[in-house]
Amino acid sequence: SESGSNCYRVVLIGEHGVGKSSLANIFAGVHDSIDSDCEVLGEDTYERTLMVDGESATIILLDMWDNKRGGEWIRDHCMQVGDAYLIVYSITDRASFEKASELRIQLRRARQKEDIPIILVGNKSDLVRCREVSVTEGRACAVVFDCKFIETSAAVQHNVKELFEGIVRQVRLRRDSK
Ligand code: GDP
Ligand code: MG
Repeated sequence: SESGSNCYRVVLIGEHGVGKSSLANIFAGVHDSIDSDCEVLGEDTYERTLMVDGESATIILLDMWDNKRGGEWIRDHCMQVGDAYLIVYSITDRASFEKASELRIQLRRARQKEDIPIILVGNKSDLVRCREVSVTEGRACAVVFDCKFIETSAAVQHNVKELFEGIVRQVRLRRDSK
């Protein structure tokens, strides 16, 4: 999107069941924002304006990765349209963590030469006794993939606000360094 417009398209990707829609619903529902309502632009698109570090930012959040009717076309579309990405896995599901790495590689291939802000998101951090992926592994993976890392829980709403603020900061860092 146009730099300086303060409006960013953020795309949720990751294995089915990791909590993408749960995170999107929190974003749509209870996140602090300067306007109290979230605009639902479609069944899987949400728009919301947030105050981050004293500056407003509008996020258009796309949660269509698992849209079955769209099939491959939707996924190709998702890979192309994001200004930033949240690659989500579940800390209780090692396969979803491995999938996250695949998606990082696919994204790099789809958007060569672009420095796209990405946060690797280990969701379901509340399920401590079912953990299959350690914090250390998650963090190490993010270092390899040159992206940020956060663990969240959509269930208990831990770090979800920080996640969306974090992605705004990542976009701004790149914008400001141009
Ligand atoms: P999606 O397929 O990636 O959109 O995942 P959903 O948001 O539909 O979540 C899949 C399942 O995981 C649902 O039953 C959610 O209630 C559950 N879930 C999502 N996030 C969390 C979380 O942070 N903690 C726990 N315990 N369950 C979660
Ligand atoms: Mg979903």
